[in-house]
Amino acid sequence: MQTLVTHSRPGIELLKNPIAGCFGNGNLPYPQERKEEMKENRRIQGTKRPDRLPSRKPSELVLLEQIRSRAACGSSHGVRLGIGDDCALLRLRAGEEMAVTTDLSIAGRHFRLDMHPAESVGHRALARGLSDLAAMGARPVAAFLSLGLPRELTKPSGRSPSWISRFYDGLLALAEAYETPLAGGDLAESPVAVADIVLVGAVPRGKALLRSGAQPGDLIYVTGSLGGAAAGLESLAELAAASEPAAKPPARPKPLRIPRDFESLLAPHLYPQPRIEQGLWLRRRGLPTAAIDLSDGLSTDLAHLCAESGVAAEVEAAQLPVRSGASIEQALHGGEDYELLFTAPSAARMPRSVAGVPVTRIGRVLRARKGSPLITLVMPQGKQPLEPHGWEHFS
Ligand SMILES: [Mg+2]
Repeated sequence: MQTLVTHSRPGIELLKNPIAGCFGNGNLPYPQERKEEMKENRRIQGTKRPDRLPSRKPSELVLLEQIRSRAACGSSHGVRLGIGDDCALLRLRAGEEMAVTTDLSIAGRHFRLDMHPAESVGHRALARGLSDLAAMGARPVAAFLSLGLPRELTKPSGRSPSWISRFYDGLLALAEAYETPLAGGDLAESPVAVADIVLVGAVPRGKALLRSGAQPGDLIYVTGSLGGAAAGLESLAELAAASEPAAKPPARPKPLRIPRDFESLLAPHLYPQPRIEQGLWLRRRGLPTAAIDLSDGLSTDLAHLCAESGVAAEVEAAQLPVRSGASIEQALHGGEDYELLFTAPSAARMPRSVAGVPVTRIGRVLRARKGSPLITLVMPQGKQPLEPHGWEHFS
């Protein structure tokens, strides 16, 4: 297995040209500079003494090769053919079906160039997709990444590697940890940084964990702790505000300096860990009746699960595994914790932890009744409706 690229090794090097290539197939715009470079390439390649001049490949091909060699890490049992041809070829095991999920990350919407380290943007893009696979009890097979980037982000600044190189550092480190090869994608120059990731997973036919199976009387569980990502984001925003006096974000943002003692506080936001192992374990044991991952926030995601199952739910505030440093509001509505939320029959014997991650019972499933709230929060002072106040996709 190839070792990971670290900051001490050059990653994707200087691009003479904006990224206008792709590693799949694409219609490429040809800006004036690109035309000029192609002319220059032709001039160089057409010379009668090529041995006297360095051979130059179009820079998108150089970039493609660099991505390809870096993506060659991780196990690839499920990828028969990865980057380099028109399509990737994936292989499932007998009796499996495919789980496919896609997630969009947009600068200014899902991350901020002046706030989030590039490694974290790459990590989080992949973590979101992996978390969806975890929620279905699927094993990851391959990832596909389409990136649109302003050209500044493809250039190294001084001795430090380019933003895109650091983005891949973060993404590929997580890909290796979860044995998820990057098997293809696309690259283009874009006015706004945008990453669209597609994850392909596999699950035994008919065995995927769905949102729709919860029954009245089931108990509700979550993995890990809640609110850490929201608390981390709040601290990160404070750090960014303190270090950047109200100027508009620069074209090529300097990475925000994160003090050592902030790292553990920010980790749940910057580097969330998808619960792949826990999802696989739960699915193999056949314990959950329904499952979802906590991407939008407990109040919102539990409402999705209830709606799909046609049930209501009751959550006990006192049982919530609130992350230290987070508030109960952040635990209820924060989002991006990427923990698993699932239901299981009350008779099921649930372990206290799965693969080192705690599992906590937080409530129970009720029959849906007209006029009653979908979700009720049980507080020491009494019961109240819990409205979904998590992440809104069009707010
Ligand atoms: Mg999800």
